[in-house]
Amino acid sequence: MALESHHKHHKLHFLLVPFLCPGHLIPMVDIARLLVNHGAFVTIVTTPLHATRINPLIDTVNASKLRIQVVQFEISVLEFGLPEGCESLELVPSRELIRNFMVALSKLQTPIEELIEKNKKKKEPTPISCILVDKFNYWMENVAMKFQIPRLIFDGTSCMNLVVLHNLFKSKVYENVQESNPIIVVPNLPHRIELTKSQLPLELNPEARDLRDFDEKIRTSQESAYGVVINSFEELELEYVKEYKKVKGNKVWCIGPVSLSCNNDVGQRGNKSKIGIDSCMKFLDSWPPNSVVYVCLGSLNNLALAQFQELALALESCNFPFIWVMKEDDSLKKWLQESGFEERTKERGLIIHGWAPQVLIFSHNAIGVFLTHCGWNSTLEAICGGVPMITWPMFADQFFNEKLVVQILGIGEKLGSEIAIPLGKQENYGASVKRERIVEAIEKVIGDGDGENKKKEERRESVGKLAELAKKSMELGGSSYLNMKILLEDMERLTFGKPYHSS
Ligand code: UDP
Repeated sequence: MALESHHKHHKLHFLLVPFLCPGHLIPMVDIARLLVNHGAFVTIVTTPLHATRINPLIDTVNASKLRIQVVQFEISVLEFGLPEGCESLELVPSRELIRNFMVALSKLQTPIEELIEKNKKKKEPTPISCILVDKFNYWMENVAMKFQIPRLIFDGTSCMNLVVLHNLFKSKVYENVQESNPIIVVPNLPHRIELTKSQLPLELNPEARDLRDFDEKIRTSQESAYGVVINSFEELELEYVKEYKKVKGNKVWCIGPVSLSCNNDVGQRGNKSKIGIDSCMKFLDSWPPNSVVYVCLGSLNNLALAQFQELALALESCNFPFIWVMKEDDSLKKWLQESGFEERTKERGLIIHGWAPQVLIFSHNAIGVFLTHCGWNSTLEAICGGVPMITWPMFADQFFNEKLVVQILGIGEKLGSEIAIPLGKQENYGASVKRERIVEAIEKVIGDGDGENKKKEERRESVGKLAELAKKSMELGGSSYLNMKILLEDMERLTFGKPYHSS
């Protein structure tokens, strides 16, 4: 793991502006660690809720006397019709309010400008020299322009997804799809990647038209940024990294998997875990290697009740030990108790209502398979843990992450979910993934059916090799380590070499 760079970048001061939800905040904080490990100073701007979520992590970094600070600004959620404390996307109670959330968030622009202004007059830390901003915070484009500070976008997805989106958007092939043959083949890719109209990413999906104006702002603000920082590693998707570099005139830096920056602090990533690390590890210690099904569908998903029940019945009937992470929700808790599910599976099932120490869980050799929604962070974390996947994509980049995992890398078994479900609309879709299919997929990945053994071993071997490559990429001299160095040198040249003018 890259700890200390030979070259120190003491003069660089990065302003990090993450989007407000766990899947975007967590990798940005990991990036902050990497930056300070390379000698840069980092200021992270966030809200009080997120500051409490990341403080343990920041404290650990500070204890090692690295240079990082968290600046908190309140967002006036009530003024925008959001419930009190609604400072994170997963807390927004309905799809209609996502718009209000985005607008409320954009009001951070003014305090951020004041922060930069104030900082200009200070000796310590040095003035802010670069901005690294989540792609969803499109309004930071104005800030960067105003202060003429180079702006990098953090896009928390894969290069493959970015190339696919680019090619779809440019070719508009999805506009001519017939009902009789809804298959879309993404043009000009290293692999034949097909999808149906109903799996289109939300930016292009008619079901998600309500937020189209934001998509447009996000797209244009990305185009004017200096470059893109990606949580991926070149060995994972080399052909797509090359393609994406072509699209972005080389200004792409794969610096991940950033979760590997955590070293031993994995119990503290994101929210506070709802289960003691010890009891989680004790449960896992009691099962043989590669035998436990780990189920976590990310921080944003709310399954429709019928789908939730279908999943429960699948876990019950397949007889494997499992850890099932789900959102805190009284009605789900009630169903699990009243239906008898909890009682019937208590010997082999660990249910976590709330936040699980996911990266830590992946580090245990009892985990045999990860049933995942294919969020990019989760996908990478499973790869780093050498854990094969069962894929259940639901929206955004998840269908393409599935293609990478199943079709290209051969480290997963797909459930066959067919429809991208816009966030907040899950109840409309019922139980589209059937229990028999879930059971069959689990059997295929960790069961001992004779016919599947070869494929099972191949999957495990392939993901094990990728885990090794991931680790190497982050070590001194590895591809991601070097990319981080190149990025910092580039930023230094831009900031202290000649005056920077953004377009
Ligand atoms: N995560 C976690 N514990 C949980 C749920 C999620 O640590 O109980 C973390 C997970 O490790 C990952 C992030 O939250 O880093 C989720 O990001 P991802 O891109 O996988 O999915 P999203 O939640 O954004 O859909």
